[in-house]
Amino acid sequence: MSGREAELAERLAVVRGRIADACALAGRAPGEVTLVVVTKFFPASDVRVLAGLGVTDVGENRHQEAEAKAADCASEGLRWHMLGGLQSNKAAAVTRWAHVVESVDRAKLVGRLDGGAAEHAADRGGAPLECLVQVSLDAPGAGSARAGVEPGGLAGLAARVADTEHLRLAGLMAVAPTDVEPARAFEELARVRETLLAEHPDARVLSAGMSGDLEEAIAVGATHVRVGRAVLGERPPNQ
Ligand SMILES: *Cc1c(COP(=O)(O)O)cnc(C)c1O
Repeated sequence: MSGREAELAERLAVVRGRIADACALAGRAPGEVTLVVVTKFFPASDVRVLAGLGVTDVGENRHQEAEAKAADCASEGLRWHMLGGLQSNKAAAVTRWAHVVESVDRAKLVGRLDGGAAEHAADRGGAPLECLVQVSLDAPGAGSARAGVEPGGLAGLAARVADTEHLRLAGLMAVAPTDVEPARAFEELARVRETLLAEHPDARVLSAGMSGDLEEAIAVGATHVRVGRAVLGERPPNQ
């Protein structure tokens, strides 16, 4: 085992242990939570090591970097998640490599993603492209709001996704704001999710929780946690 492989194996074991403990506390089975390892800024060689350690899902936030890595790791059979803010003119392109697009936050993206997904339907064995609507947990009107549709706009956007032919509305994604306790932000997210499930009972995916707050997310029902630093180590600042 190389030094890097040993390092990743050790950190991965810690994260898997945290997920198992959080599931036990919440009375959930560990198999209910999928670990998406966020590999942005780390090389394809790390992605291959992770695949060898049993990681099935990886997340990226930049189209070009992700497309290159996905091509490099094509034989690993991984599921690639797009987590980053999407420019409208790049939306169709991400469907070339992404199996799940977690950052659908405005109506303008929906038609573009649907068009791209139609073009690459054969690559997915004809299955629709999974999409998560990203919802903002910032206080209403917060100036420098992060990406995400305000909860009030969720129903309309979710309906747009559900009405397409080549996209599947799989659920919700959110990032806890930095100025609120994650537990409180995720309780709000759980309420928002109930309103979505009332309309779209199959949209059961809840992608929430990162290196610092995966326990709080699992406590409110997260089905996917997106963990970068706790597995791979620190990224360059501000990424
Ligand atoms: C980078 C990123 C993560 C991973 O964050 P860590 O703190 O490194 O675990 C999760 N979700 C999104 C949307 C990200 O951009």
